[in-house]
Amino acid sequence: MINESPRVRFAPSPTGYLHVGGLRTALYNYLFARHSNGKFILRIEDTDRNRYVEGALENLLETIEWTGLIPDEGPKQGGDYGPYIQSERLNLYKENVDKLINAGKAYHCFCSPERLEELRQDQIKARLPQLKYDKHCLFLSKEEVLNKIQSGEKYVIRLNVESGPKVMIKDIIRGNVEFDRSTIDDQVLIKSDGFPTYHLANVVDDHLMKITHVIRGEEWLSSTPKHVLLYEYFGWEIPEFAHLPLLLNADRSKLSKRQGDVAVEDYKAKGYLKEALINFVALLGWSGGDDKEFYYLDELIDKFTLQRVQKSGAVFNIDKLNWINAEHIKNQKSEDILPFLKNTLLHSEFSRISYTDDYLLKVIEAMKSRIVFYSDFLERSSYFFASPNEYDQQIIEKRWKPETPGHLRILIEEFEKLNNPAHDDFETALKSAAEKLQIGAGKLIHPVRLAVSGIGVGPGVYELLEILGKEEVIRRINTAIEKIAV
Ligand code: GLU
Repeated sequence: MINESPRVRFAPSPTGYLHVGGLRTALYNYLFARHSNGKFILRIEDTDRNRYVEGALENLLETIEWTGLIPDEGPKQGGDYGPYIQSERLNLYKENVDKLINAGKAYHCFCSPERLEELRQDQIKARLPQLKYDKHCLFLSKEEVLNKIQSGEKYVIRLNVESGPKVMIKDIIRGNVEFDRSTIDDQVLIKSDGFPTYHLANVVDDHLMKITHVIRGEEWLSSTPKHVLLYEYFGWEIPEFAHLPLLLNADRSKLSKRQGDVAVEDYKAKGYLKEALINFVALLGWSGGDDKEFYYLDELIDKFTLQRVQKSGAVFNIDKLNWINAEHIKNQKSEDILPFLKNTLLHSEFSRISYTDDYLLKVIEAMKSRIVFYSDFLERSSYFFASPNEYDQQIIEKRWKPETPGHLRILIEEFEKLNNPAHDDFETALKSAAEKLQIGAGKLIHPVRLAVSGIGVGPGVYELLEILGKEEVIRRINTAIEKIAV
């Protein structure tokens, strides 16, 4: 198997949405496949009908498509490969479980829920270390089984766990993990509704899909001995395992909805870029071995190895995600941001005003290193789209003195002389006004910023003036002189 190129899968159950932990699993599988020239497969594990949620599958697929982690193989859907879907493969699980029954490795069990509950209570009373099925139905004769089936009794099919040496799991991240066979229950493989359980369907599919590496969350480690036993009983080659560390809240409790969003779609809706989310999620348990934290997908593919995945839990730090999102926006080409800004404007109070691409590109250039989300173009710099209708009171108190209006009138005189000024022309004009007035440039810079933007922070003031243009700047200064009373 060593020489074969790897085949991995992401195998989510459609429970309503894609969890960020699921995205991390999908991403690590994808990176591992891409890094080693392997194949990435998407398989939908939907055999638990009790957990069926209307629309969950469509939602899951849509979110995966948005992330761009597209499978390399699977049933064709349009031009793309779609996922394998377990509920469409039921005969395969049935066929294979029959092999186990014939070999005595699995058996029919007719025990009623009442009997199972009684058994459980007895075992709890007897303080047994492990609550397990007592193999009651293993000892039914073939005829008895047949009669019960024919008379319509409900049954499940169970794994027959036999005594033997410890089950050893070789895990790339966690090293060797051993489980005592006596601790493993006679797991249900086929439920009374005829659907396979996760364990059976997962192992049969991993085998049929020739999966070489099972990369999944740590919460599945306790299921792995059952899977290893199934491989053993089927006589199939066991894939390599890599169980990824848990995701934790800042207080190191397990990542939960209560402390923040866990659905990828919520992050998408909040305006996080998929590039940023992928970058961030990649660092939840993996590092490139240095301090680097800003990555594009290509670099991640290049650097990713399972050996660099940590064992200990990974803390989900929203500040870091915000920083990464800001970095990605900062590094985007302004032309690539343009359609998003246009769209944001279209859905804003400024939808009826039209701005030239040229103007918007300048705004993007000025602001893209100062924002966390695209929506911040409007939230933090709405003055590019309309004149301010109020002025920050704190800045007024600090910067707007009784003599300021007089100073600004002199400044306007200097600005009037300019012809289509660039930022350095505004700078020269402002400095010469300051000189005439015999004041420091700061005494003009802060009031002028307040007058044109209404606030005290933003891009460089001369850049700001250049973007707004001479006429607009003068108009806004005049309005401010009228409106701001000290
Ligand atoms: N269906 C399981 C899940 O929802 C897959 C676990 C595995 O990868 O084996 O995560």
